[in-house]
Amino acid sequence: MLKNGKKNGIKSAKSQEVSASTNGTDYPRHSVSPGEKVMLAAVDADQSEHYARKKDVEEELEVQRRRIQDLQARQYAENKQGLLIVLQAMDTGGKDGVIKHVFSGVNPQGCRVSSFKAPNPEEANHDFLWRYHKSVPARGRIGIFNRSHYEDVLVVRVKNLVPEEVWRARYGLINDFEYSLTRGGIAVIKFYLHISKDEQKLRLESRLADPDKRWKFSTNDIKERAFWDDYQVAFEDAINNTSTEYAPWYVVPANKKWYRNLVVARTIADTLEAMDPKFPPAEPGLEKISIPD
Ligand code: AMP
Ligand code: MG
Repeated sequence: MLKNGKKNGIKSAKSQEVSASTNGTDYPRHSVSPGEKVMLAAVDADQSEHYARKKDVEEELEVQRRRIQDLQARQYAENKQGLLIVLQAMDTGGKDGVIKHVFSGVNPQGCRVSSFKAPNPEEANHDFLWRYHKSVPARGRIGIFNRSHYEDVLVVRVKNLVPEEVWRARYGLINDFEYSLTRGGIAVIKFYLHISKDEQKLRLESRLADPDKRWKFSTNDIKERAFWDDYQVAFEDAINNTSTEYAPWYVVPANKKWYRNLVVARTIADTLEAMDPKFPPAEPGLEKISIPD
């Protein structure tokens, strides 16, 4: 896609690849290249590389969490670059699980989660990006969007909440919005947590069966499940129209929760590493200072 290629924003996907290869690491990125046409039906939601069970990734996940913590401390101190992480998925896809398992240990002072539901009347009276723009992270901060501006080309499309010409124009508006964030020092990465329809059934059943999980169950999830195929098409179109060099999408195989967590954690760590945040220099002359009694 020429348009995407032309707008070469701050270091994102490209420098990430470089950083990973200089690290000597070699693992599937699950990233969507600009112009690539992902077909979700062809992406195996069960895959997990050579790992067979949760135990196999526990140590590696901890390594990735520590990388994130260390890099976040630098990012916060440096106060020059922000990172917006977008999480999207079908219901039960694991957005909350990722937030819980990948960000445990991140300094809450430098991090904020924003969850988006159907817009309230005030939000609905503004342009669709207004409420998201208000919640993007500042420099030095990480912002996590639990659902995001992508709902305005997903649920809005599937449920016919606005005419096609309105939601279709939003792909370009979203690209421009994300481009302007990256130019303003805020990197953007986007995760689609990819589960299968069978896996969603299992997860909904387990929410029903477990009294401690029942609060998460919404009869609305069953209604939405009936639109599974429409949502898959909407996700495909959204991802294929908005995966750019400056704001890449990652399609994360997410039937295995532990593999999903690993992929998200190491992608975030690689992204932060490519941003290369540095502690600011100390004031000169500190070595001569002694603290008075
Ligand atoms: P949950 O994340 O399970 O609490 O559900 C939030 C609900 O809000 C989902 O059904 C979303 O589809 C819906 N939602 C989020 N953003 C929008 C939006 N922009 N327009 C309409 N519905 C939305
Ligand atoms: Mg829900």
